[in-house]
Amino acid sequence: MNDLNAHYRLLLGLDEAWDVEQVDLDLEANRVVIDLQHVGGQLRCPECQGSCRKFDNAPKRTWRHLDTMQFETIVQASVPRCECPDCGVKTIAVPWAGKHSRFTLMFEAFAIRVLQAASNVKRAAKLLGLSWDTAHTVMERAVHRGMERREEEPIEYVGIDEKSFGKAQDYISLMVDLDRSRVLEVAKDRTTESCDQLWSSLSEAQKSGVLAVVTDFWRAFSNSSREQAPQAELVHDRFHVSQYLVEAVDLVRRKENQSLRKEGDDSLVGTRQLWLFNLDNLDPDEQHRLDALQRAAVKTARAWGIKEMFREFWAHRSVAWGKKFFHRWYSWAIRSRLKPIKKVAIMLKKHLEGLLAYFRHPITNAQSEGFNSRVQAIKSAARGFRSFENYRIRILFYCGKLELLPETTH
Ligand SMILES: [Zn+2]
Repeated sequence: MNDLNAHYRLLLGLDEAWDVEQVDLDLEANRVVIDLQHVGGQLRCPECQGSCRKFDNAPKRTWRHLDTMQFETIVQASVPRCECPDCGVKTIAVPWAGKHSRFTLMFEAFAIRVLQAASNVKRAAKLLGLSWDTAHTVMERAVHRGMERREEEPIEYVGIDEKSFGKAQDYISLMVDLDRSRVLEVAKDRTTESCDQLWSSLSEAQKSGVLAVVTDFWRAFSNSSREQAPQAELVHDRFHVSQYLVEAVDLVRRKENQSLRKEGDDSLVGTRQLWLFNLDNLDPDEQHRLDALQRAAVKTARAWGIKEMFREFWAHRSVAWGKKFFHRWYSWAIRSRLKPIKKVAIMLKKHLEGLLAYFRHPITNAQSEGFNSRVQAIKSAARGFRSFENYRIRILFYCGKLELLPETTH
């Protein structure tokens, strides 16, 4: 029996103050219960670390530990309470578990690893024999721990982006550290206040060290960023720009399709995808089809050509050349007699400074593709998220690159 006691002593990282009193094996319940006893030593206040006298023993409580073979393993102890002259009566800290946790540190660390490895939380919870709520609590504690451990390293490039969330048109805003590909913070909505909140997750020194911020054209984001980090240059996200152009081409195509069909010409039907691709991504067959279509659908072809031409904009090496190109492109787009294209052109001209800033800071929100798809997966796995806070915890747990594991004492 002493061997078993010594074994659990080691596993639980017990110090001199604690002893393994008894190990009970319950074959019926498939359970091992380990009784621990406090055997003395100086008591320290958990708040101020000052030494204090013993007040009493708190009622016996239990913690779940890692299973021993197939036996559910429970740690049980009555923890002393001390009386601190400054902080009052407090339950002392124990070496095997974190404050307010129902699990030992080893169990918690293991649960976090399983949650990280599993494709979804439901499955991980099942493997661990935990309820969904309890699994969530473990993640929540891990995220709090990780956020507190974050260091104030300089961050040069940040991205601010929005994602839809929930059934209605609800949004969340994300701030991303582009150098380290990690989510820094998540805020509810996509208002100026949401964006201010994102900025407040950085220290003053970090904020003033940011060189550039990439956002879409959303005004709340640029207003907030100008105010919060006035030295940072605003860069407009090139992938949002190309989305606007692709949508404009599609609007032209739909309208032209309607008028062609009136004349009995079906050639534009079902070709939406074909116009969306970049020319380099088409195979010879598709290129051939597109050639034929361009002769039949003159307007769509013109819109498509304008969109394709704009891709060259990003290849320029300097602001001066980029600007020159833009004005050439703009005059073509504006004379195209295609309403949707003209609309996008006018919008781009209004935001030209932010587009040209790309040549000084070539950053985009799409460069963190790895977690963009992860955020997407979290969203679709959890359509039932009742609260924004749950969603935030998930995103930070999986995409925050946080140090999530509890510190074990050995
Ligand atoms: Zn104290």
